Amino acid sequence: MMETTLVILKPSSIQRALAGKILSRFEQKGLRIAGLKMMMLDENLLREHYAHLVDRPFFPSLILSMTATPVIVAAISGVEAVQTVRQMTGATNSRKALPGTIRGDFSMSGQENVIHASDSPENAAIELARFFCPEELYDYSLISTPSLYAPDELTR
Ligand code: UDP
Ligand code: MG
Repeated sequence: MMETTLVILKPSSIQRALAGKILSRFEQKGLRIAGLKMMMLDENLLREHYAHLVDRPFFPSLILSMTATPVIVAAISGVEAVQTVRQMTGATNSRKALPGTIRGDFSMSGQENVIHASDSPENAAIELARFFCPEELYDYSLISTPSLYAPDELTR
C-alpha cells in the first residue's frame, strides 16, 4: 500500500548539521519527499504530539530538547512507508539502535535521537495533519517509479 509518514528532524539533528545526510537516506532508499518545511515547535503542539509521554519524568527535558532550535518536518511516501521508515529509524534508545539505522549511525542518546518517525499508519495520518496543511503535501510521482517497484507492488 502506498503510504505517507511523518518524519521530524529534531533539534539534535539540526544542531549537528545532519539534516542533509538524513534526508538523503530516505531519497537513496527510494522514498519520495511529499512535503518539507522548517518550523519551530511549541509546548502546546508537543503536548499533543507526545501525549503518551506527558506524565513521564523526562517530559520537561523532552520539551526543552524539541524546542531548542527549529525542526524540519518531512512527509515521506512510498509502498509501506510507515514501517519502512520506522525500521530505518531504529530503536528509541540510540545506543541500542542497530548500526545501519539512522539513530544507530548518528546518535548516542535515548532523548537526543535525531529524528521522529510515525509508528503506525493511523498515527501517521494524525501526525501529518498535525504538522502539514493539505496543500503542503504534494502528490507528484517520481520518474524512477518503474525502477523502484514491480507493477503489482503499486496496485496492492
Ligand atoms: N524519550 C526520552 N526518554 C525515554 C523515552 C522517550 O527522552 O525514556 C523521548 C525520545 O526523544 C523519543 C521521544 O521521547 O524519541 C518519543 O518517545 P517514543 O517512546 O514515542 O519513542 P520513538 O517513537 O521516538 O522511538
Ligand atoms: Mg513514538
